[in-house]
Amino acid sequence: MNYSPKKMQEMLNKYNFSFKKKFGQNFIVDENVINTIIKKSNIDKETLVIEIGPGSGALTNKLALHAKSVICYEIDIKLKEIIDNNLKNYNNVKIIYEDFLKSNVLNDIKDYKYKQLYVVANLPYYITTPIIVKLIEDNIDVDKIVVMVQKEVGDRFRAKPGSRDYNSLSIFLNYYYDVKKIMDISKNVFIPKPNVDSIVVEFNKKKNNLSLKSKEFFFKLIKDSFRQKRKTIRNNLREYDLDKVEKILLQNNLNLSSRAEHISIEVFVEMANYLVK
Ligand code: SAM
Repeated sequence: MNYSPKKMQEMLNKYNFSFKKKFGQNFIVDENVINTIIKKSNIDKETLVIEIGPGSGALTNKLALHAKSVICYEIDIKLKEIIDNNLKNYNNVKIIYEDFLKSNVLNDIKDYKYKQLYVVANLPYYITTPIIVKLIEDNIDVDKIVVMVQKEVGDRFRAKPGSRDYNSLSIFLNYYYDVKKIMDISKNVFIPKPNVDSIVVEFNKKKNNLSLKSKEFFFKLIKDSFRQKRKTIRNNLREYDLDKVEKILLQNNLNLSSRAEHISIEVFVEMANYLVK
């Protein structure tokens, strides 16, 4: 496969393909970026990789080369001919033409044998957060996620308590994963050129997460705590046992007038375990 912008455009023209903004279609045309993503992913022949949005198959090609198997979800059926042609040399790739957000991933992967499950993708930016939330809420148990995302969203994933970007998603993510930035990406490596800057982030599953009596309750408590970001915990958690909430907060040098954005994962875990019936 040829990765130069000119060659990519020529190839897409040959198939009469035009980019759809509504699907967040910005294709990578820089082989170095793809090679770095592959190298950092540490994929091997025992890895099953899920790619969301293969586009023309530029990243998929190299995933297929290194992985045991690759499953891709692509919403745009107009890409089928292009993908079929660009991946014709591989028999370890399955493309599922559907909206990833509506897919049943656990069912799609159930017949595969593999040692580790990775998600590697240049994500469609209009649904980055819903995709990550789905990976967590569907209990897919992904060992590693390496994704290219809009810079602002990537910063939110890595946010620490007290920072403007810290929210319920940063807590869910950081509960399961160590999150780190791999690299900044220039707008010039895509066609068409996006309006926003990008970064590649890596999530590695934590070996020992803090132990929770009920994951569901923990997630609900966090969602409720951040329900209205400007409001205090007293306000957002008024349907909970506030005496118990206060006890945990005071033990951690916080109080009912604190806001969720100042509360660490450890304190939320302690609170959830103390409050759950
Ligand atoms: N992987 C390709 C690359 O890096 O050149 C394309 C990345 S492009 C940013 C995002 C891709 O996701 C597009 O191919 C788009 O059609 C696809 N896509 C958008 N929404 C989707 C959805 N809900 N489910 C699956 N794929 C989707």
